[in-house]
Amino acid sequence: MLTSVVGINWGDEGKGRMVDLLSREQDIVCRYQGGNNAGHTVVNPLGKFILNLLPSGILRSDVVNVMGNGMVIDLAHLCGEIEKLRKAGIEISPKHLKISDKAAICMPYHVAQDCLEEERLKDAKYGSTRRGIAPIYGDKYLKKALRMGDLLQPDALAEELKHIMAWKNLTITGVYGAKAFDYEEMLRWLKTYGDPLKDYICDTGEYLEDAVKQGKNIMFEAQLGALRDIDFGIYPYTSSSSTVAAYGPIGAGIPGHSVDRVIGIMKAYSTCVGEGPFTAEMFGEEAENLRKAGGEYGAATGRPRRVGGFDVVASRYGVRVQGATELALTKLDILSSLEKIPVVVSYDIHGKTTKSFPMGKALTDAKPNIEYFDGWGTDISGCRHINELPENARKYVKWIEEAVGCPITYISVGAEREEIIRV
Ligand code: GDP
Repeated sequence: MLTSVVGINWGDEGKGRMVDLLSREQDIVCRYQGGNNAGHTVVNPLGKFILNLLPSGILRSDVVNVMGNGMVIDLAHLCGEIEKLRKAGIEISPKHLKISDKAAICMPYHVAQDCLEEERLKDAKYGSTRRGIAPIYGDKYLKKALRMGDLLQPDALAEELKHIMAWKNLTITGVYGAKAFDYEEMLRWLKTYGDPLKDYICDTGEYLEDAVKQGKNIMFEAQLGALRDIDFGIYPYTSSSSTVAAYGPIGAGIPGHSVDRVIGIMKAYSTCVGEGPFTAEMFGEEAENLRKAGGEYGAATGRPRRVGGFDVVASRYGVRVQGATELALTKLDILSSLEKIPVVVSYDIHGKTTKSFPMGKALTDAKPNIEYFDGWGTDISGCRHINELPENARKYVKWIEEAVGCPITYISVGAEREEIIRV
């Protein structure tokens, strides 16, 4: 069975928490896109972990974790992440972690280019996390990227790096007027952080193909949500990769297969990190209260997240582009402190009311039509069955389910592994 766990909204929906829970039924968990630009927070009996690059299944010793070809990998960051987990007593070995030979390497000059470009843009910046993600994906498509498999062929790698750097330094010095990167230094960086990873590098596609034949359960874990997808998201305020479920098998290495089950992770309210249109956004005290209650600060960057009520228009669109077959509604417990719960039911764009998610200028100009639900005013984090939820909470969940047109099969009422209602 192939399962995708994907974000329905702008990211930070609690995917890490759901993958951690769902990975119990999985043999293999794969990351298939993105780099260390976002973080998954997982809280379980072993402690609290922020994972940027490693798949969330890494916290279970009986799950094999795959970092697929669709990813971009900052070697130094990955080494640091592995080291941190080892210190916390988690064993990581090539039996339990496999890195695609086709994943692209995010180099220090990509990080520098990302920062230089954000500084050049000043107020018009896209809100990049400055981890080099857009430059490395750009180079991948320009066919000027190094890949993980190149680390296994050091002579060819050294030669290729020379050509790539001659070209890259033209941009660094000519476009941005910054100091050129030193070839020897980059070679040393590749050796220092690449050598410890060599034993993990393999053809993950071949490995997964065999696993499919053996009837193994494989899960694809997305980073970021539908609205950050490079094609379907709020372009250009998107990530640089495909975050949609359909890309899972491609980015993991088995493009001939399709996903059987798509679990969309959807938050009970809206949050958004960084720049770009965010129609549901609330401001002032109302926003600050929700932000504090939900602990809405970026896992990778610590940036305060923008917050708002649940957005039916954006979420219905997210459910559609993800092809979600079911939904997990997360952080319902956070709304317990609200007397009135705002929801965005439609948008007004230039005098017209719509429920279709717009793009570009129309999205920027969209104004939310907000309705309020009565709150339930009690702590629900101890509820383990839908019937234990207060009536108003049940009404809220039922209404959302109908509004987005997809069954809600999980309701998360806390960050801990077991704080979940299976509907
Ligand atoms: P991800 O990138 O989608 O995994 O999301 P993040 O890790 O950025 O944000 C999710 C945060 O909310 C983490 O701190 C989780 O531990 C926490 N979380 C997830 N689900 C719930 C929930 O149902 N209730 C509460 N209170 N916290 C949750």
